[in-house]
Amino acid sequence: MPEGQIAGTPESPVAETPGWQDAGRPESPDAGKRGGRNAGVAGCRKARAPERRELNRKAVRSTTMKYIYCPTCGSRLGTRIAGDDGPVPFCERCGKYWFDSFADVALVMVVNEFDEIALLKQLYMSDTYTSFVSGYIKPGETAEETAVREVREEIGVELESLDYKGTVWFERFDQLLHCYVGRAKKCELRLSREIDSAEWTPCEEVIKTIFPDSPGNGAFMMYQDFMQEREKRINDEGKMMDHIREILK
Ligand SMILES: [Zn+2]
Repeated sequence: MPEGQIAGTPESPVAETPGWQDAGRPESPDAGKRGGRNAGVAGCRKARAPERRELNRKAVRSTTMKYIYCPTCGSRLGTRIAGDDGPVPFCERCGKYWFDSFADVALVMVVNEFDEIALLKQLYMSDTYTSFVSGYIKPGETAEETAVREVREEIGVELESLDYKGTVWFERFDQLLHCYVGRAKKCELRLSREIDSAEWTPCEEVIKTIFPDSPGNGAFMMYQDFMQEREKRINDEGKMMDHIREILK
């Protein structure tokens, strides 16, 4: 989404890539001293280059629409009671309510038969952390269709299966993340121009570069669940082998 996107702008362009990825980007150690992440804005001080980059990233990620003007006719909206929802922005001219809207995003952890995970680097998101495949759900699409499409577009992989892992509300960017684990055969990754680099990464090593845990970090949630299930699977297989050895004695 272009920077400076104004809520309620008619026919807002739809961004290609959502912003959940910066979920756990830690504050710099002296963030508190300097007045925190938005010091460059709130403190009326010109942001230095790294801060500016961070602010730009944040602008790219902001997707909530709170309507002040009617996106159809441009009139300033009043409010009207909408049943149980209470007062909601309303256009008298068009006779239409304008509820707050937010982005729905499909987030996919792609895993191959060797339990390697496709990790993506997108420098405009972060030059430090890696992420999973993700993308905005387009009007008319199901979350599952988006998941399959984004995996194909971003890394050129055809999924063999898709497991739904639930939704999380990613508060920082007001996005609803629809989380999936996609299984695929190991193949060469063919990257879209949106992706700076990507590689199959042994699952044990993924923890080194993904965004740390934070509220609504769906990627971390899926990864953690995956690793716990995997450990249990490996333990169970070990016990089964021990049992078979006992029987064969
Ligand atoms: Zn209107």
